[in-house]
Amino acid sequence: MQELEALAEQIRHCTRCRLARNRTHAVPGSGSPTARLMFVGEAPGFHEDQQGLPFVGAAGNLLETLLNEINMTRAQVFITNVVKCRPPDNRDPQPDEIEACRWFLDQQIALIKPSMIVTLGRFSLQLAYSGVSISRGHGQAKRLGDILYYPMFHPAAALHQPGYRSLLEQDMHRIPELLSSMQQIDAAPQPPSRPEQLTLF
Ligand code: SF4
Repeated sequence: MQELEALAEQIRHCTRCRLARNRTHAVPGSGSPTARLMFVGEAPGFHEDQQGLPFVGAAGNLLETLLNEINMTRAQVFITNVVKCRPPDNRDPQPDEIEACRWFLDQQIALIKPSMIVTLGRFSLQLAYSGVSISRGHGQAKRLGDILYYPMFHPAAALHQPGYRSLLEQDMHRIPELLSSMQQIDAAPQPPSRPEQLTLF
């Protein structure tokens, strides 16, 4: 899709926040421009910054393995982050950096129009829940408008703390059922005007 690529080009040249100073490459995101399922992580790490691609390190390999377990591939989904440039020394992204980059994420969501957004880790969790810890929020699907948000732990957390691996797997294995329920809603006849909806699954 040309508009999505034009947006990616804007991201590659963006200097809206301080993260532009030390990046090697901005990382707009990758995958299907018509994906029904979108993953939003935290920020690019070392390998992502080097290659300009999201989730290409060990955490990316784990995400791909988990996707394969639900019979999906990276090519079928779209993967991005809340900030598109690597924070120095992999520090946490700062609130003003997330705010500066939010417009790009909003545009990506508007262009791709996913049915479901899986947030990975505590920073993208804030897209659906504010003031909720990832320990409490993971696995709690929440519908906002036409999109089902579904928080999961970040794959890097499962690499550093093996106890999280089974929780990540459990949450991932529920995705097909949740996605299917959203597709059935999408396929149903819609009322003339559709009010904002908020549904906990
Ligand atoms: Fe621009 Fe986002 Fe990179 Fe900041 S993190 S420079 S807002 S693309």
